Amino acid sequence: MSYPLRLPNEAQAAALRLLDVSRAVINLTVTALWDRLDEFATRTTTYAYKQVEEMIAAPVGHGHRKWRCEAEQAGRILRSQAERKQQFALILALLSHGMIQPKTDTQRAGKNRKAIKQAMADLREVNADGGHEVELQRLIEQACNFYLQNGCFPTTYEQMQPIPVLKAGILPYAGDDGPIMGQTYRLRLDLEQQTLMLALRTPDEQGAWARTWREHTVQMKVPDLVATRARQGAPLAPTLREIIEADGTRYAVLDFTVEVPVERQASYKDIQSVLGFDWGVRVLVTASVTDLDGRQIGRPFFLETGPLDGRQARLRRQIDQLKAKVARLEAQRDRFPVGDPKRSPSEDALPIVRQEISRCWRKYEARNNDLAHLAANILLVLATAFDCKLIAGESLKSLKSAGRGRGTKGRWRNWRNNTQIRGALWRILRYKCFLAGVRLKWQQSAHTSHVCPRCGKPANTYRSPADRSTVEDWGAWLCCSNPVCLWNGSRDYAASVNIARLGAALIRQAQTTGRVVHPSITDSSVQPVSYMGTRAALRLPPPAPRGRLVASGRIYCNGWRLSVKLRSSYATPIVLRLCG
Ligand SMILES: [Zn+2]
Repeated sequence: MSYPLRLPNEAQAAALRLLDVSRAVINLTVTALWDRLDEFATRTTTYAYKQVEEMIAAPVGHGHRKWRCEAEQAGRILRSQAERKQQFALILALLSHGMIQPKTDTQRAGKNRKAIKQAMADLREVNADGGHEVELQRLIEQACNFYLQNGCFPTTYEQMQPIPVLKAGILPYAGDDGPIMGQTYRLRLDLEQQTLMLALRTPDEQGAWARTWREHTVQMKVPDLVATRARQGAPLAPTLREIIEADGTRYAVLDFTVEVPVERQASYKDIQSVLGFDWGVRVLVTASVTDLDGRQIGRPFFLETGPLDGRQARLRRQIDQLKAKVARLEAQRDRFPVGDPKRSPSEDALPIVRQEISRCWRKYEARNNDLAHLAANILLVLATAFDCKLIAGESLKSLKSAGRGRGTKGRWRNWRNNTQIRGALWRILRYKCFLAGVRLKWQQSAHTSHVCPRCGKPANTYRSPADRSTVEDWGAWLCCSNPVCLWNGSRDYAASVNIARLGAALIRQAQTTGRVVHPSITDSSVQPVSYMGTRAALRLPPPAPRGRLVASGRIYCNGWRLSVKLRSSYATPIVLRLCG
């Protein structure tokens, strides 16, 4: 785990000078080795710097260890690019003109999402959680953007991918000899006082490297959480990193990294219950718990993000309006030839508007990220409360919400549901589960919202409980037409139970055969579940008086109204509903 600690003000200028010098070396190295990208597809050693050192001589230097740290970063960039290049080979054959929506009188040329989705479906891999596909989809989109600019698809990865040069500095100290022996940094951690002493070898304003750098230590406070982690585990080499704010302010942080011991993964034979969750459209996440004997334990949980949806939607609209403003200003500027003073009002206004756009994007992304963390935390809290050692979630391969957004809020919900945001939740949930010793398994999502969880028969969905005259494929309400069952409920609820059923079948299979297979909902190994309301003993915090529901940072259970209000960093509460 890595925690960014902002360097004290007196150390900022020198740290930024160091990062500037290093960034230039890293960018030169990446550029020099770009032609040999393929060689980075094979990892000859763990450390990227060793690979780089074999290929290129150290630049006229400021110390060998500093060069090793720079070579490490350059090597990491090249390795990840080499991996992308291999993935590009997979999508190259799929690129087709159908992915491009040609320009019409009323519309600009753009990407044909449906065709891209189809291509992705053709690329299905049986044994993957779908995280890989998010990457592949990004590559296809990048190739389509290349087409929109150049009128043809790229034939090589390098054609569409510019040499990735760093815009913000980063220097991993992994290439040095450690905190005590370090030749570019010294670090001492005092866990009793919760302080960290740091000395960095940096150039002065004239670019000279002082020999006395070890004497210039700065002291930093270590936050409680970081200290706790450091006590549990072993600190690893830190990384110095530059952060550039939207308005151009920059500062340096030290990414303090700790290797923490993780809980051992539960063995399959010890797993007795599973938490299944569905990524909904109207609610963010719906979760249900079942045991292995076909019984649903307790009520489903709905995580609603209504007020936040509205705020994110407004922010997206604001971004669209600002983009339109940029287009207007550019058009106004281009009415006059270069050098004409009439251009300057637009030229002066453009950077301000662009800065505002990037500020909005940051806010938007930060909120999405918070949301993914919140959803992951809730799923883990629920899994712990019900003693589930396995969480089952649908595979990321299904792009379930395409084309179902009405109005600004609906459009945002579509964006929220795209693979990128779902991918973020999955990634965050995966590492949190890993730390907690909970298994996370993807499930095949096909038909999970069109099968009755009680009897296992195919079922139709309708617009609402009241409006059951016409079958609607994307309807919110599922009704079983099996005359001996007739169960009906929210489709997201049904899907979450079905995903839990899939998880239960996976565990049973693993317990008997020792093999992990991902069954589909129609397999005979997947049992229907009955509802066990009486066992719904929920071990969440006890009901608190209403007046005390507002302090931030805790989860509250409002028992008699069967809902849990979650305070997040937003002003508006996010509601977790417990429904029968
Ligand atoms: Zn049924």
